[in-house]
Amino acid sequence: MARFSDEFIERVRVANPIQDVIGERVQLKKAGKSLKGLCPFHREKTPSFFVAPDKGFYHCFSCHKGGNVIQFLMEFEGLSFGEAVEQLARRAGIAIEGDVGAGVRDEQLVRRRAQQQRLYEVCQFAQQWYERELLTGERGAVAREYLRGRGVGEAAMRAFRLGYAPEGWDELTVAARKAGYRDEELMMAGVSVRSEDGTSVYDRFRGRLIFPVWDLSGNVIAFAGRVIGVGEPKYLNSPETPLYTKSRVLYPLHLTKRAIQQRGLAILCEGYMDAIMLAQHRFTYVVASCGTALTTDQAHLLKRFTSKVIVAYDGDRAGQEATVRSVGVLLEEGIDVFIAPLEGGEDPDSFLRERGGEAFRELVEHAVPFFPYLLEALRARIDVRTPHGQRELCEQVFALITRFEDPLVKGGYVNQLAGFLGVSPGLIERGLREYEERARGERREGEGVMRKVGTARPQLSAAEEHLLALVLRDPQALKHAYTNFSAEFLRNEVARKLLEQVYAYHARGTWRGVEAFLLELSEEHAALVTGLLARVPDAGEQWREALDDCIATLHNEWYDAEIARLRGELDTEKDEERIRLIMRDLQLYQKKKQDRVKRLVLTAGEQGEW
Ligand SMILES: [Zn+2]
Repeated sequence: MARFSDEFIERVRVANPIQDVIGERVQLKKAGKSLKGLCPFHREKTPSFFVAPDKGFYHCFSCHKGGNVIQFLMEFEGLSFGEAVEQLARRAGIAIEGDVGAGVRDEQLVRRRAQQQRLYEVCQFAQQWYERELLTGERGAVAREYLRGRGVGEAAMRAFRLGYAPEGWDELTVAARKAGYRDEELMMAGVSVRSEDGTSVYDRFRGRLIFPVWDLSGNVIAFAGRVIGVGEPKYLNSPETPLYTKSRVLYPLHLTKRAIQQRGLAILCEGYMDAIMLAQHRFTYVVASCGTALTTDQAHLLKRFTSKVIVAYDGDRAGQEATVRSVGVLLEEGIDVFIAPLEGGEDPDSFLRERGGEAFRELVEHAVPFFPYLLEALRARIDVRTPHGQRELCEQVFALITRFEDPLVKGGYVNQLAGFLGVSPGLIERGLREYEERARGERREGEGVMRKVGTARPQLSAAEEHLLALVLRDPQALKHAYTNFSAEFLRNEVARKLLEQVYAYHARGTWRGVEAFLLELSEEHAALVTGLLARVPDAGEQWREALDDCIATLHNEWYDAEIARLRGELDTEKDEERIRLIMRDLQLYQKKKQDRVKRLVLTAGEQGEW
């Protein structure tokens, strides 16, 4: 992916007014200076989604998503930053950087883009060819019959653009050659292969039902071919190509992403047929991992659209093991996991054929939290009647529990585990602490810090929030804060980091306003910033009074907290030298606080009217 220059990004952003880009996708109504509508990122009946055209950002007061126009497109279409910028550039008719440049690197880039474009075209050509064979070809009758027998109707065949690769040797290859594609391109796109003796090029998929696989923008990038009847292998997939990395794709996410986003929920299944059958039964918020267990990249992709997943893997042992592995991967991404427990030998496809959509709906509604399921699944493998077995089970469960930061959540799992094993919670807790210490030791030696799960949205104090809003909105306020307030006085860590970043820009003279700043931020921090900008009313002319007020409050809060901390230390400290130092600091802070109060009284102006 090309790296764009700041100037280019800025040009693209300015050329794409946020209200237009969002307005093309969400119905917006005027509400004062802003526009409002139903949030596209969660399901709602009354609008809590706001777009501020003058500020160039959007924010949802219910699900707390927010950002600028580029971030909106990333979120809405599930695109990467670069993809979103490219799409907006195209929308505004701006030539994409690198396409026009004359440098060597740009030439390479242009060549690579052109090659990629050819591969997309090959895949599209193949997809349409397979589809025609299925829907209208004489030979496709066998595949149509097969699909009907499995309960896949014509509407689903069309919606999922299913196809048929007839028996034969090189029919697609020959047709593609006639359409002007070279053998090298066909092989690179994965639809053709060269024979072992190197003399001929022939079709990869023969006598198979074809499932096209898309990227998030809806380009066909690969195929899966299923045997009709019996044969090996049951599924044949495209190889990895410049367009396709299997571990990064979820099927058929580009068709189901909107439903997933709106429900805030996805059903995760294993196979292509599972996904199609589920969608056909109106479980349109479905994705398939198309492999035994979910990969980290897939979980990451899914997290762009939802933070709650119901796993509906096969009920057999392999499926159970895949479930346990996938649960770990999902939790790692901060996704809430539930399980729709299928019985041995069942998968969603067979379940729906035998028992119908209503029964599956029941299953989804009564999906169980992952934890009890996990314990049962482990008990099936580990004999927990012996202390050694109990220990083994605990170790496996600790690996998951330790990822939660919230002590209440952790404690809850500890209690459940204790109850399950019939031992005291204290014992489990001690075991967990030991496990965590060991894990910390190992981490220190190696790999770096593991990502924690379930971190709460950082809570800001009202004064912290107001100060940030003032500084972000108004360069004058930024200048004033920079000379009168040190970021250290912010006790919320995220707020402090944000302010430090803003200060750094100001100090270098490169502060370009909050919209440009939003682009630098992680999704979570961007949402925090747009949230507080949406909440805190504009101080307008009164910015200086408002800011001085915030600064005074924040200094006070900080001194109060420090004084409390030092008093606490004083209670337990034995060392006399330390006590003397603490006393000194304590007096200093108390004096500083009093000075501030005095000054505050002298300069107090209008309060509360922001
Ligand atoms: Zn929302």
